[in-house]
Amino acid sequence: MSSTTRNQGANGNGHGSSQAAHEAFPRLSPSAARGADSSPLVSADVDLTGRELYIPQMPYGGSFLLAAALRSIGLDAKVTPDSDARTLELGGRYTSGDECYPQKVVMGDFMKLIEDEGIDPGKLALLLPTANGPCRFGQYAALQRRLMDDLGYEDVVILSITSADGYAGIGEHAQELIRTAWRTVVANDILMKLLLKTRPYEVNPGQTDEVYQKGLEQVAAVVSRPQVAHGKRLDELKEALRRVKDDFAAIPVRDEERPLIGVVGEIFCRLNTFSNDELIRRIEAEGGECWLAGVGEWLWYTNEERFRRFREEKRRVSKEWLKHWITTRVQHRDEHALMTVFEDVFRGYEEPEVPELLEYSRPYLPHSGAMGEMVLSTGGAIYLHHKGADGVVDISPFSCMNGIVTEAVYPRVSREHDDMPIRVFYFDGTQGDLDRDVGIFLELAQTYKRRKKVQRA
Ligand code: SF4
Repeated sequence: MSSTTRNQGANGNGHGSSQAAHEAFPRLSPSAARGADSSPLVSADVDLTGRELYIPQMPYGGSFLLAAALRSIGLDAKVTPDSDARTLELGGRYTSGDECYPQKVVMGDFMKLIEDEGIDPGKLALLLPTANGPCRFGQYAALQRRLMDDLGYEDVVILSITSADGYAGIGEHAQELIRTAWRTVVANDILMKLLLKTRPYEVNPGQTDEVYQKGLEQVAAVVSRPQVAHGKRLDELKEALRRVKDDFAAIPVRDEERPLIGVVGEIFCRLNTFSNDELIRRIEAEGGECWLAGVGEWLWYTNEERFRRFREEKRRVSKEWLKHWITTRVQHRDEHALMTVFEDVFRGYEEPEVPELLEYSRPYLPHSGAMGEMVLSTGGAIYLHHKGADGVVDISPFSCMNGIVTEAVYPRVSREHDDMPIRVFYFDGTQGDLDRDVGIFLELAQTYKRRKKVQRA
């Protein structure tokens, strides 16, 4: 066991002794994740040299590109292998039942790396973002740490970054990575949009998935190259995305009209296809097309939340506020530069601004106290109604407060929006007859489509 990893206190990066992790559990606070000496994530106490860094699939494509971004600064980053029955077996074995379903899946996938893949804990690092707020998500990095320590895997490093600072707390030299990582979020949201608006209509089954994977690889090739100036990387990224756009446009498709189903909900479960039992593919199989809320929405939301806290704390004129304001401007510029390439393709599929979603949800949820996905999903359902969607599904882990709250407000949301069908689908790894439920929902969406007042642009 290396002294650098074993002897540090629990410092919020998720690694420390078992004792320290136990102590830190109730007070996990935002702090820097640490990295290798050779990377911008330099730290004296955690060294990632020679370690494989694994990222959970949230979604697969987003993590694939984030891993590429991390490779650009010298880290050996990878996506966790696909989840399967063994994931649930291990996840179930090492959780108590009080944790939410996403934690069980992530835990199971991480444990597979050690117990099945045989990766040496001393050569393993796990990336597990965290968040402040009422949600159990904020406790999972500490819980994962404690479990690893209890099992004797103290040498595993857990990197934990937090939403409290807009996920910026990844080391003082990490500006380069933050910018590249943000671009990967935008790029994957674009690729996912292309995938979902093309796949239901493809003539040759499987072709869209292949083009999507090839697109990911083209973008990853650009973002994984080290020491590329931001301007040059942005140009290369636009060029790669233009090629991907052409590849999607070349896919033969059927000319047919399908009901458009908005997909909102808890961020992990809606983006991790194993967790939601491939709900989107099932909707496609039943004749629908999906519009999925991407990862970017969550990051814009954390930015908004940070501005709100600055206002509440009366720190609007501070160095931190200015820094956050500039970062947000840069993020907007980068997003705009990449999205411009797809203006024609995404006509009618424009993404909402987060303040717009918050406004939409305001009449249905308390202004303070209701936070996170419940607000975004409620606002998202209304936004999708205005875009002419034919129904909205909300993906929620079983017992997650987000789904419980949104399920309570959706009947009124639906009533006040032309009776558009909205339904929460719960997941806990023990699904009933999902195809039957999806089939019934699509029937409702088809009926609504024939009589709805708001048509698609
Ligand atoms: S949002 Fe829900 S499922 Fe996700 S971590 Fe929080 S409580 Fe659990």
